[in-house]
Amino acid sequence: MKLTILGSQSPYNTTGHNCPGFFIQDNQTRLMLDCGSGSHSLLNYPNDLQNLSIILTHLHRDHYNDIYNLQYSSFVFHNQKRIEKPINIFLPSTPAKIYEDILSEQNSFAKYQIIDENSSFKIGNMNISFCPTDHPVETYSIKVQNGNRTIVYTSDSSFSAKNRLVEFAKGADLLICESSLLKEHGFPEINSHLTSEQAGIIAKEAGVKGLILNHFWPEEPVQKYVDEAKKVFQNVIPAIEGLTINIPSIEKELDERS
Ligand SMILES: [Zn+2]
Ligand SMILES: [Zn+2]
Repeated sequence: MKLTILGSQSPYNTTGHNCPGFFIQDNQTRLMLDCGSGSHSLLNYPNDLQNLSIILTHLHRDHYNDIYNLQYSSFVFHNQKRIEKPINIFLPSTPAKIYEDILSEQNSFAKYQIIDENSSFKIGNMNISFCPTDHPVETYSIKVQNGNRTIVYTSDSSFSAKNRLVEFAKGADLLICESSLLKEHGFPEINSHLTSEQAGIIAKEAGVKGLILNHFWPEEPVQKYVDEAKKVFQNVIPAIEGLTINIPSIEKELDERS
């Protein structure tokens, strides 16, 4: 498994920085977790549309805006006979208006499947499962297991879901955790997002090997997030667009960068 980071910030993209998106490749199987604004721009077209599955963790714009670009690209490349199989899009069914809007897109070469907390399926050799988070809309953390390697991506969550997230991420090789907030922002302890320190606490209690922070405010220096998380968990790096990590050698790779 090879992980490429497509987006690190929210709520909007800026030059060189996109909203959340993560691309996992395992042989010829491709999996994209979220497609926030700008994240599709790091894909290699049309190749990355081959055997591509996309999982949307929730229907907030900073996590799904680029699904329309991917749908339209799949339509065009299919018409040109440059991709053979439809892209697979997995998504929650609420908010219903947004779900229906995505599925009503005519210029698309895609298949759709609803996810919920009981969903569990295989994409290539990767076993995929879900854990509901606490967020204003239906939202899921995703676990990707391949052989003895595991990646968990929290998506957006309040710290009120901490115990569930710790259990879900137990022993993972890599935790990709949202850290929208800094303690200095002064938000109350329970919010619809995590602080960087809270991301560190989840990583520590889950006993993961490495932590990648993401979902940064564009105006804040990324180092502030890393410094805050490091007070509780050492093996942490920030999400950086284009960064690729080979999961079999993840301890070594994170050690070198953190
Ligand atoms: Zn959200
Ligand atoms: Zn978000």
